[in-house]
Amino acid sequence: MDAFWNDDLATADPEIAAAIASELGRQRDKIELIASENIASRAVLEATGSVFTNKYAEGYPGKRYYGGCDYADVVESLAIERAKSLFGCNFANVQPNSGSQMNQAVFLALLEPGDTFMGLDLNSGGHLTHGSPVNMSGKWFNPVSYGVEQGSERIDMEEVARIAREHRPKLIICGGTAYSRLWDFAAFRAIADEVGAILLCDMSHISGLVAGGAHPSPFPHCDIVTSTTHKSLRGPRSGIILWNDEKFTKPLNMAVFPGLQGGPLVHVIAAKAVAFREALQPEFGAYAHRIVENARALAASLEENGLRIVSGGTDNHSMLVDLTAKDVTGKDAEKGLDRAWLTCNKNGIPFDTRSPFVTSGIRLGTPAGTTRGFGPAEFRTVGKLIAEVVEGLSQNGPEGDARIEESVRARVSELCRAFPVYPGM
Ligand SMILES: *Cc1c(COP(=O)(O)O)cnc(C)c1O
Repeated sequence: MDAFWNDDLATADPEIAAAIASELGRQRDKIELIASENIASRAVLEATGSVFTNKYAEGYPGKRYYGGCDYADVVESLAIERAKSLFGCNFANVQPNSGSQMNQAVFLALLEPGDTFMGLDLNSGGHLTHGSPVNMSGKWFNPVSYGVEQGSERIDMEEVARIAREHRPKLIICGGTAYSRLWDFAAFRAIADEVGAILLCDMSHISGLVAGGAHPSPFPHCDIVTSTTHKSLRGPRSGIILWNDEKFTKPLNMAVFPGLQGGPLVHVIAAKAVAFREALQPEFGAYAHRIVENARALAASLEENGLRIVSGGTDNHSMLVDLTAKDVTGKDAEKGLDRAWLTCNKNGIPFDTRSPFVTSGIRLGTPAGTTRGFGPAEFRTVGKLIAEVVEGLSQNGPEGDARIEESVRARVSELCRAFPVYPGM
């Protein structure tokens, strides 16, 4: 048993330890531009890897189905209180294991199978859980989607109202994964009131900005707000549900447990509490505003270097780059940029004619780069580097221009060395 208690991971499992070490190297050496990713603090990582991984705590603080939950109660109560003060709402459920599960819980709590709901179309930047035909939300419920307008590539609230009047959805969802403009929560509220719908905001992507005051809050307009905690909010991989009206408390809590989940991930709840505490500090507001400032700098630099930004810019942390004019696919751009140590994902653009496996665009985000310390100057450089790689692909086809990619890689390395990630690890 000595080895069981004492061996560290490198001794106990060299293969997994090596993969983790390589992943740390990847996060250090490449520039992370995936809009849904971030770099959590050492404290968040430590809580996630804590002894709470051993604990069963089915139920809620003070009402558990297992003994020995005193400290689990401390952790979950702190997470709830901090989430409430962070987002200025009356109730919080911090148990959803993921973003998908938090949304499933809302559906389970409020809808019957077959009920009609509205969400942003996947092709316009919506999330799978907002009614995609391959997701449970689209298979067991009746999704009606709204999209962006062809010219402006923005959501047209008149059109949202028209669709809502026609279909009378029981639930309307605002929020998405690849929409870079502000959400008019008040206008969504008015539409929901008119058709008698419950209004849900899934603020997964922008919750860090909301917490830091760099994006309008979905409260008090939305009835229920869900969010992942690992994107701009910079916590562990997980989800939360927030609301103000007590009438939702029982259905939502019952939907999470016992409706969908068993024992909550107490170690992850502990890490969420840590992340919420971080987000309550004044520095977090500065970080959130910097994310937006950096996104504007990146978008401007890409445009100056000849790339088109969908909708002409961004109001948040993310943007879609349309590569159509360069005759480069999103798939090839993702691969070429990865060869140059710039990590991003291919993404469909509105009215994309290519398949989701190919696409005509890439999605870029600034949260991870902002966390490592990049400011507008660094992001302007990143925009220039991206444009160089894309130009190489445009000239030479999918294999790109090796000389350009090598030169970009050298400049990426320089930036990464100047802004180290987890220097003490
Ligand atoms: C990321 C995301 C989710 C899903 O989160 P997972 O933790 O990956 O399940 C749900 N909704 C939106 C809007 C998201 O961006």
